[in-house]
Order: sequence, then C-alpha cells, then structure tokens
Amino acid sequence: MSETIQSIRGMSDVLPEQVPLWDLFEDTARVWLRAYGYRPIRMPLVEKTELFVRSIGEVTDIVEKEMYTFTDLNGESISLRPEGTASCVRAVLEHHLLYNGPQRLCYAGPMFRHEKPQKGRYRQFHQVGVEALGFPGPDVDAEHIVMCARLWNQLGLDRIRLQINTLGTPETRARYRARLVKHLERNLDALDEDSRRRLGSNPLRVLDSKNPAMQSVIDAAPRLYDDLDEASLLHFETLQAILRGLGVEFDINSRLVRGLDYYNHTVFEWITDRLGAQSAVCAGGRYDGLLHQLGGKPAPACGFALGVERVLALMAESGARVREQPPDAYLVHSGVEASRLAWRAAEQMRETGLSIVLHCGGGSFKSQMKKADGSMARFAVIIGDDEAASQRVAVKPLRELGDQVTLSVAEAIGLMRNARGTPHIEP
Ligand code: ATP
Ligand code: MG
Repeated sequence: MSETIQSIRGMSDVLPEQVPLWDLFEDTARVWLRAYGYRPIRMPLVEKTELFVRSIGEVTDIVEKEMYTFTDLNGESISLRPEGTASCVRAVLEHHLLYNGPQRLCYAGPMFRHEKPQKGRYRQFHQVGVEALGFPGPDVDAEHIVMCARLWNQLGLDRIRLQINTLGTPETRARYRARLVKHLERNLDALDEDSRRRLGSNPLRVLDSKNPAMQSVIDAAPRLYDDLDEASLLHFETLQAILRGLGVEFDINSRLVRGLDYYNHTVFEWITDRLGAQSAVCAGGRYDGLLHQLGGKPAPACGFALGVERVLALMAESGARVREQPPDAYLVHSGVEASRLAWRAAEQMRETGLSIVLHCGGGSFKSQMKKADGSMARFAVIIGDDEAASQRVAVKPLRELGDQVTLSVAEAIGLMRNARGTPHIEP
C-alpha cells in the first residue's frame, strides 16, 4: 500500500462536526453585515504579486516573508492573497464602482500566509473583511468599530478590548519618522536584525515588533501623537466622541501602527487575553492613500478584517455548543417493490423540505435499523413487502418513546413535519 498524503502544514480541514459552529458564525455575520448595508463582493484567491507588493508594502512581514508566490505557466508572478483589502480595491477600480458613489462592501474567505503554524495562526485562515470606499470619515471609521462591538455582542463574546490610535497624515508620519529614527539610532544595540533593516526603510514598523527584547526601546520611543496636525486631531477626537456616545469602551494605544503600510488616521485592533500569543481578533483602519497608490482616482477609504478561526475559538471558549442538524428520517427498505416505493416516497418527502437519508447498500432490516439509529435521525421510515403491497410506510420514532405507526406517505410527511415544532427528547 502506498503512503497516505497529508494536508499541507497550517492548512486545515473543517470536519462535518465542526461545520455547525462555522455555519452559526457565518449566518450571524451575514445578517450583521446586511444590518449595516454592506454588500458582498467576491474576489479571486490569486492576484498578480505586484498588487500586494504595491499595496501592503515591500518592507512588511507579509510581503517580505509570508506570501505564497508562484510563477504561472506563462511566466507571470502570482500570489495567493494574504488579505482582502488589496483585491477589493483592485476590483473597485477595475469595475469603476465608485462612479456610482461611495461603496460599502464586504467579503469573506480564505487568506494565505506562510507563517509558523500554531494555535490561532495558520497558513490558510479565513477573514471576514469590510471596506467603506469614498467616505472621508470619521463617521464611517466609528461605524466600523461600532459594528464590531455589535458582532461580539451577538456572538456572546466578552473580554475583547478595543485599542485605537491615529497615524495622522503622511506629513505627520514623515515628521514623526525623523524623530523616531533618531531614537532608534540612539538604541541601535537593542534592536534586533529585522528592526535594524527597517530603520532605513520603514521605521514605524519597528513599533509593530512582537519581539519581547525590543519592548523597552519601543516603550521609550517618542509618540506620533505629538506630531499631529489640527485636522488629524479633530478626526481622532470626533471618532472618540461617537464611541463614547454609544458606550463603546476603548483604550488609546499610541504604539499601535498595524503591520501594513497603507494606513493613515484611524487604526484599531480588537484584542483578547484568551487566545495566548494570538491576541488580535480583528484589525483595521483608514487607508486614504491606497486607491491612488493603485492607480485610481484618489478617494478616502477605511476597513477592517476579522480572523474567523480566532473568533470561532472564542465562541467555543465561551461555551457555544452547536450540534449538527440530524436528518428528519432514515429510510429503510428491502425488496424490489419496497425499494421502488422508497425512492418515490423519499423524493415526495424532500419536496416538502424534509431531510431524508435513503439507505443505500442493501442488507438486512436489522443492519439497516442500526444505521438509522447511528444517523441520529428522528424517525426511521420502514418499507418492506407489506408496506409496498399497501403503498403505505411504517414510521418509527428513534429519539423518543412512541409506537411505530403505519401511514400513507402524505400522513407520514405531516407527522414528521409536525415533529419539527416539538422539542427533541433524547431517549
Ligand atoms: P497578527 O498580529 O496576529 O500577526 P496581523 O496584524 O498580521 O495579525 P491582519 O493582517 O490585521 O493580522 O489580519 C486581520 C486578522 O486576521 C487578525 O487580527 C487575525 O485575527 C487574523 N489573522 C491574521 N493572520 C492570521 C493567521 N496566520 N492565522 C489566523 N488568523 C490570522
Ligand atoms: Mg501577522
């Protein structure tokens, strides 16, 4: 026998028993996004590598070391998407969606990053992303934060803290950059290799370092806040006022710069202390420069993405238990005439919305009944020679006390549909 093939490290299967929790999350998210008027868009999983390099930034963890990049058969460099914003903006520009005015868009799906797999960190993971394009804010920035707060609430999640910060304008960043570089150069000995490299190219990224040895240098760094211009300050304060007005609690974290290059003004992150080192559940902010940077007409924009696996882990932690939906009935049948009736009856039942598993593979009634029980179906529908002769079916409750009854197919349908409205008693 040849060796079995394993899945790629960090890329997981979601098994049937895990799917109900995904479904619960996805159903909740769909309703939630609609409640705020966000319209779903679906982008390809693969894009030209250049799109990510130009948007996320050359000197970022993602582009430097996390992208799955391949040469296509026609020699073009393509990459599995590491995030959705770049693709979404690309699609908006390509299809001129902003001609119809500002857009509220959302998407969901797998993202790919070549990271070290561990709890809460995978190489294929899923995000739900939200982008508002053409809105200068800060109202829409606040909307994004408020909608996250509502989602946590609807999912029954607490202990997710909100951190916000402002990066001001590109001019703010330039002024701050000069002060920050001075500080970092004074502490050159304390910087790790990544940070030294970034000192020349992207010093703000040093503040994003997760290396514990770097924390004291980071803590002692000057604050961008002191370089803010008046308009940026007003943007930030208006955002805070809206959040306060709605009772959304937050902390200002002046070290929050986010790992991507394209942010300005508002940045935020929702973090938890329940998932070990993988504390970021959701992150986003404003990226007014990106559309222009990708060749479009300048337009303000803002968005966020949440990590689905991390949210699911929190849901499981907080006791969310969702069971697989068992079928209404398992249909047991034996004999040529019986099988003919079984096929027909099963289709009639499904026509009314019932979920019916038709036994396949033959075998004795006894072995089929075992399968029926194992299927967790609420009823067994049994069709043998007698039932075939009378064109009726026997219905036996499997999950509660009650006698087997012989009914017409229509009556059986009525009984099973009624049972859906009554609570399910475990035998
Ligand atoms: P982290 O700091 O954990 O590396 P990030 O800043 O790289 O996160 P973003 O690019 O902001 O993450 O992506 C938004 C969200 O997607 C994160 O807050 C997180 O919940 C989730 N996420 C990011 N990378 C992964 C991953 N490799 N596996 C699972 N979830 C992830
Ligand atoms: Mg990361």
